[in-house]
Amino acid sequence: MSSTVSIKNLQVYFGSNHAVRDVSMDIPATKVTAIIGPSGCGKSTVLRSINRMHDLTVGARVAGTILLDDNDIYHRDTDPVTIRRRIGMVFQKPNPFPAMSIYDNVVAGYRLNGMSTKKSDLDATVEDCLIKVSLWEEVKDRLNISAMSLSGGQQQRLCIARTIAVKPDVILMDEPCSALDPLSTLKIEELIHELKEKYTIAIVTHNMQQAARVSDSTAFFYMGELVEIDATKKVFTNPAEKRTEDYITGRFG
Ligand code: ADP
Repeated sequence: MSSTVSIKNLQVYFGSNHAVRDVSMDIPATKVTAIIGPSGCGKSTVLRSINRMHDLTVGARVAGTILLDDNDIYHRDTDPVTIRRRIGMVFQKPNPFPAMSIYDNVVAGYRLNGMSTKKSDLDATVEDCLIKVSLWEEVKDRLNISAMSLSGGQQQRLCIARTIAVKPDVILMDEPCSALDPLSTLKIEELIHELKEKYTIAIVTHNMQQAARVSDSTAFFYMGELVEIDATKKVFTNPAEKRTEDYITGRFG
């Protein structure tokens, strides 16, 4: 089941740097929301707030409200471990666990979350998730080799398989293609398109063509503020704000 993420008056501070300023936006279910804007404008910081990654950063402070359906992600009774199972993250650089096989990578979070220890469940999860990311045919005969022997694009698909193995509602992607070649990028973009049927997806990208290709709505950020969010087609053809227009037409960035 996918869920809606609702961000209200989000502020993020790193020491005295007010990096994200009063951001309110929804990330709806079964849609792809792209977050674009120049380097340093707060895209990753907003994304990381959604699964409480700043909890681990000394000096970071988050204020405001983020709801996952009706659940307050930052409520004192909310368990961050549960949040990170329900809200998965895919990073810029593929990060499979280097000492583990392909098989063990897929079920790493699944095991850690105590979802099952039965071999039949593990086998089924590995097959199902690798099929979903279109990696099964490429690796089914060598599941026990190191994940590091895969190409960068295959490693990223493996990381997405690991993310969906724990049955999340939301998948956050932080520039998931920026370390990949064009063909691997295309495969990930196709995969995003398939995944959105089941999951709520937010993707940070500095590649505007990618945002235009993969997303339903686009949020443009500038200097820590959300300038506008609207249907992707609207943002790229008829933005409401001058700053958005200047950015998408390449006047700065
Ligand atoms: P973007 O993803 O748009 O490139 P970021 O969200 O990474 O931008 O950064 C926004 C601002 O927050 C920048 O000023 C950056 O230096 C600061 N920042 C991000 N992460 C940290 C951190 N872990 N510690 C200190 N400052 C940070």
